[in-house]
Amino acid sequence: MEIGGSVHKKMRVCVIGAGAAGLCAVRHLSSDLVHFEPAVFELSDKVGGTWVYVDETGKDDYGLPIHSSMYKNLRTNFPTKLMNFPDYQIMNQTRPSCGTHQQILDYLNAYADHFAIRRFIQFNTIVECVQPIVNGNWRETTWRVTIRNLKTNIEEERVFDAIMVCNGHYAVPSVPKITGIETFPGDAMHSHEYRKPDIYDGKTVIVLGAGPSGVDIGIEIASHANFVYLSHNGPRLESPLLTNMSQVMGVESIDGDKFTLKDGTVLTADALLYCTGYEFAFPFLHEECKVRVDDNFVTPLWKHLINIEHPKMCLVGLPSRVIPFPLFHLQVAFFLALLRGTIDLPSKEIMLVDTRPFSEKRHGHVLGNRQWKYNNQLATLAGMNTLPEFYENGYTEWNIQKTSNLLKYKDAEIVIEGDGKTVRFVMEK
Ligand SMILES: Cc1cc2nc3c(=O)[nH]c(=O)nc-3n(C[C@H](O)[C@H](O)[C@H](O)COP(=O)(O)OP(=O)(O)OC[C@H]3O[C@@H](n4cnc5c(N)ncnc54)[C@H](O)[C@@H]3O)c2cc1C
Repeated sequence: MEIGGSVHKKMRVCVIGAGAAGLCAVRHLSSDLVHFEPAVFELSDKVGGTWVYVDETGKDDYGLPIHSSMYKNLRTNFPTKLMNFPDYQIMNQTRPSCGTHQQILDYLNAYADHFAIRRFIQFNTIVECVQPIVNGNWRETTWRVTIRNLKTNIEEERVFDAIMVCNGHYAVPSVPKITGIETFPGDAMHSHEYRKPDIYDGKTVIVLGAGPSGVDIGIEIASHANFVYLSHNGPRLESPLLTNMSQVMGVESIDGDKFTLKDGTVLTADALLYCTGYEFAFPFLHEECKVRVDDNFVTPLWKHLINIEHPKMCLVGLPSRVIPFPLFHLQVAFFLALLRGTIDLPSKEIMLVDTRPFSEKRHGHVLGNRQWKYNNQLATLAGMNTLPEFYENGYTEWNIQKTSNLLKYKDAEIVIEGDGKTVRFVMEK
């Protein structure tokens, strides 16, 4: 490969971020140093991304938004056994099946050490701009990457042959505009800023949204708050909740401390907590990368992953309602197979159809049960092993437990039967 007169035999691959996805990327790149020369840029001084809990919210020492959305008492919402990367299964705790955020951070640190990948990571370094340098055929495209060392403030330009975007997708809050919010005298914040439940001692709180965060945080704060309204427009949750919780419709408007709901009910509350999810954001991608976020759907991508306009760029970890780590493992392997030339690109039209949203664009990357077909496709095309069956079976059984008992499901015991495939959960009496 000839770039600026010098010949590079290896493919220089830039990885943006050293959370679980970035670590997974460099783990696979570093297992083939004959072909790849990886460089990871991480803006913080640690690996682990969102799993690095910090008390602080707002801005960090460099004036950048705090990245992590972890809260102090968070326990995983999947059994840790199912969160293992398939090639590093050391989280074997069976009861309680769910772990703490510290356990996951410890696991990611152990993964980094086991695969000896820290040497490829440049910490305290933010990627500020990624711009393609087009040289005809897509395989000849290179990338100009501008990085800045946050400690010295020195900016540098580097050239790479491929880009793996692993910047995380749970850091930029999505906050709906509610009519009259400016009149609300109480505390209103997004779950990204939530850390500890005692701030709600004795208060009446409206938790807006009943996705994974809304449910988890709602239950957590109910042990401190006077009352928690779980406000959402989806189907009613079937599980019992705490006695000082109730599900109500979404909020239509606010007038002072009065909340008018979509069904006309009026409630009074002291605090509002938005558990309304996150926006995809890639502020460092130059417009020539041609990646757009359209109603929270990232386009144009093949397999929710590969930039169709410049296929030597991938965006890891966009699918939601999935078990992320095993999915990262397959996405990374798939992209590296493309870089090595063992996978061919179909036509643009076919690629575009492939990632067409099933429902509204806004939910276009939500896979849920479709993740298993997706994972199998990636593995098959990349010529690798599919995931061991206990992941899918565990996920299916897990959802049943969770849906029926949101208060206790995290304490259940996970049992993987002798066949290594069948999974069952034993709930505490
Ligand atoms: C509250 C919460 C609870 C969750 N619970 C679970 C769970 O129980 N189980 C589960 O499997 N998953 C859970 N997840 C999902 C979790 O996000 C994934 O498991 C996974 O950690 C995502 O990894 P990532 O590498 O994509 O992103 P992140 O962990 O966010 O890492 C991204 C990294 O990129 C860095 N970065 C960003 N921009 C730049 C830049 N411009 N330059 C350099 N570096 C940059 C960041 O500093 C960060 O270190 C949860 C997420 C949240 C927010």
